Amino acid sequence: MIIAIGISIGLATGSASAPVGAVSETLPSRILSGYTIVIDPGHGGKDPGGIGRRAQEHLLNLQISRQLADWYRKAGARVVMTWSTAQQMPPSRRFNVRQRVHFINRSRADLLIDIHCNAGGLYRGPQTFYWSGDSSYLLAHDIQEELQYLTGTRRQVNRINQYVLRYAHMPAVNVEVGFITHPAEERQLMNPRYQSQLTWAIVVGTARWALHARWPEQISNAPQSVEMLKR
Ligand SMILES: [Zn+2]
Repeated sequence: MIIAIGISIGLATGSASAPVGAVSETLPSRILSGYTIVIDPGHGGKDPGGIGRRAQEHLLNLQISRQLADWYRKAGARVVMTWSTAQQMPPSRRFNVRQRVHFINRSRADLLIDIHCNAGGLYRGPQTFYWSGDSSYLLAHDIQEELQYLTGTRRQVNRINQYVLRYAHMPAVNVEVGFITHPAEERQLMNPRYQSQLTWAIVVGTARWALHARWPEQISNAPQSVEMLKR
């Protein structure tokens, strides 16, 4: 099945009783101003990624990435996407991962968010991965904690040896937003309202990370908390 692209997300039109809409009204304006964020929807083209009962991962990644981009822009960030419409997917060959990394590094972004759906058995829950570096780890940690609050998942940050994360020249994480192979989670992931909540959690995690980076010197000179958090 082909998923409709470009569903309007209704953030601006959210009623006062809708938590997500209400949040957008009170978003501390431009909390991510000055940041350039590159969003890479995983897979694309001849490589659909994971396949659920109804959804294809690459198209779901794209939908969710577009919602994420909207939130980041509302928070004042400049957003670059490696691809942002189904038409931009190269039609005749696998999306070249080296070209993708080259594009990401040329963007001179402050951080990279890769969006994927997980696959496997009847596992469920979002999980955030990084490859190396304290900054990437802390970004993954702050995002994963927000995803834990949202979904109740016990999944923890983990490392992953992924080409894009390895060769990106900026703090980089891969958010596996959920399992496309879990029927109930697949339905959730296809729901624009859930997509909106999920992407909001990622933005809040990113904002927390950005604030950590601006800690006053007397705080950032405190004993490193990274080791304590790695569990
Ligand atoms: Zn994937």
